Amino acid sequence: MTLSSSPTRPVGLLLLAVAVMAVFALCADAYRFRDDESSELSHLLMKLRRDQHRKHCWKYSLDGLTESQLTKCARRFIHFANQQLRKRKHRSSLASFHYNVNINKRNKELLTRVDTKYRRFSSKLTLFALKFKGKRMSGLSASDARMLRDLQWNMVFGRRKDSSRMSNLDSQMSQSYDTAVGCYAPGKCLDSGEDNVKNFFRTKNDYDQLRYLWKSWRNATGAKFRNAFVERAQLLNESVYAFFEYFTDFEDPKFPETVVSLYNQFKPLYEQLHAYLRHRLHQKYPGKFAANGLLPGHLGDDPWGSQYTKWHNEFVPFPAAESIDFDGILKDRERRGLLTVPQLPHVADEFYRSLGLPKMTETFWRKSVFLKPKDHKMNCHGTAFDMHSASRDDFRIKMCTRMDMSSFSTVHHEMGHIMYFMLYSHQPVLFQGSANSGFHEAIGDTITLSVKTAEHFQAIKFAKHLNDTHESQVNTQLTQALENVMFLPFAMTVDLWKWRYISGKVPKEQLNQDWWRLRGLYAGVGPSVSRSEADTDALSKYHAAKNIGYVRYFISFLLKFQFYKAMCEEAGHKGPLSTCDFYKSTAAGDKLRRMLQLGRSKPWPDALQQLTGRRDISADALMEYFQPLHNWLKDYNAKNGVPVGWTVPANPMQSASN
Ligand SMILES: [Zn+2]
Repeated sequence: MTLSSSPTRPVGLLLLAVAVMAVFALCADAYRFRDDESSELSHLLMKLRRDQHRKHCWKYSLDGLTESQLTKCARRFIHFANQQLRKRKHRSSLASFHYNVNINKRNKELLTRVDTKYRRFSSKLTLFALKFKGKRMSGLSASDARMLRDLQWNMVFGRRKDSSRMSNLDSQMSQSYDTAVGCYAPGKCLDSGEDNVKNFFRTKNDYDQLRYLWKSWRNATGAKFRNAFVERAQLLNESVYAFFEYFTDFEDPKFPETVVSLYNQFKPLYEQLHAYLRHRLHQKYPGKFAANGLLPGHLGDDPWGSQYTKWHNEFVPFPAAESIDFDGILKDRERRGLLTVPQLPHVADEFYRSLGLPKMTETFWRKSVFLKPKDHKMNCHGTAFDMHSASRDDFRIKMCTRMDMSSFSTVHHEMGHIMYFMLYSHQPVLFQGSANSGFHEAIGDTITLSVKTAEHFQAIKFAKHLNDTHESQVNTQLTQALENVMFLPFAMTVDLWKWRYISGKVPKEQLNQDWWRLRGLYAGVGPSVSRSEADTDALSKYHAAKNIGYVRYFISFLLKFQFYKAMCEEAGHKGPLSTCDFYKSTAAGDKLRRMLQLGRSKPWPDALQQLTGRRDISADALMEYFQPLHNWLKDYNAKNGVPVGWTVPANPMQSASN
């Protein structure tokens, strides 16, 4: 099973909730033909053939069993599920890895075949696990009960025709999404696909062209998916046996309220940042929108207004202050023969070892792919794979590494996934996974916060003395905030909106209105042209259209600052939080290890407590991290009479742009 994991990338449908996140991804471009590819794949084909003749030992009825027989049966079933899932996940990971590092028709067919078998098998497991629901089994251990519950969290249809209908809707939506075309002026269109649209948004500043593209992308996606989305929701509500609900993973029945209360914690910072951004954009585009109203949706890095990093140079707080040129430092070392691209993963490995954590395995170094092949196609998106090998030593990364800060960060990030895989590999397969879906992404991001500091570049002797002044820190923080803080309201809204509709809180006649009400309320962002109910703008985002959970990005973006702060405290850091590098702190590493080795064997608050000492997710650490920027923003906005805050109009679908 594969799961891509960047918030800006389409991801596969989460089918088995307990499934170990075998594949994780982040952005990253690099030779090596897979000499072991043919042997691994032919072995896999042999296994698949043998499988077709096998009968499953757990296909019997539970009727008439006594409590102790039921308990025994449940234990045997869980044992069987763990054994079988390990083998099948291993096959899925093999097929996925080889397809990703060598994209060709044969590997694609094999991947589809393995995935289909995996899905069928996991559905069967769920159907059987559901037979235990409501049965008294007082002798079952807490661990076994947890694994049985995880097995029951899966999307399984009672009728085959509903299941096929759902697959049809899914593939139709995927296909039309992948081939959707956006135009930036009448008759002037981009090549198909979301990436081209995002690239236009990131690199172009023509107000009217961006607005045209904003609308055109929605016509090609959201507006077309409305009926399919409504039918999908109906199928989910009426025909699914057991459904992994959006918030089930967080073991919090009031999770939507929790999300809103987290928002309220960082709202003071968000409001100041929003005010500054709106003020600068208003100066750049005078008369195009109200100085104190909603920010029109087409001024960010993408057609959803989820991040705004494109403005970091133009709106830099201290233009005269020198910024640290991490790319330049790395490239200079390469030029002087002090660092090569293949050495970058070893730099990351050394970081983790300096924390007292295990080194990457021999298999990892032998089987990972770090350089872009010259003779065949490879998916360059950085991804970590848990191969679920019986020997528990096969973990891999694929990425196309370059000598720049982006690759430097990516390799540290992906290795965070590998560290999690390694440290929970002793757990039963059903417990080999993220404590909740926000944890896995947050690990590598936490490490990245530490390595992307002047302090770290000095500590690893990549630079002698970096002049990291208060001004340059505030400049760096603005870039980070345009990525992280601006993203949070968007990340929470996608799932809140879906959840409000599917749970019946919003009628289908108000779907789009509700989206814009939430976008206005939490983000202070409004539509770039007037909208109608037929538009269904939320569905212009892949994850919303495909019913893929998004709130985990909201959670992971908060958790990374929480993890970071805890590790910095453990490392005895003094000074502003954002200048902390916990390199070489075995105390910090030890705390991290204690959390990671639990996998999902315990409720996530138990895991969180191991590292941070608290049991709740909080925005406190994020607020502390961005304190220097927050102070500067408050000061700047007050001195310059910049209006702070916004009100949502009675009709949230009216255009926020003049
Ligand atoms: Zn990742």
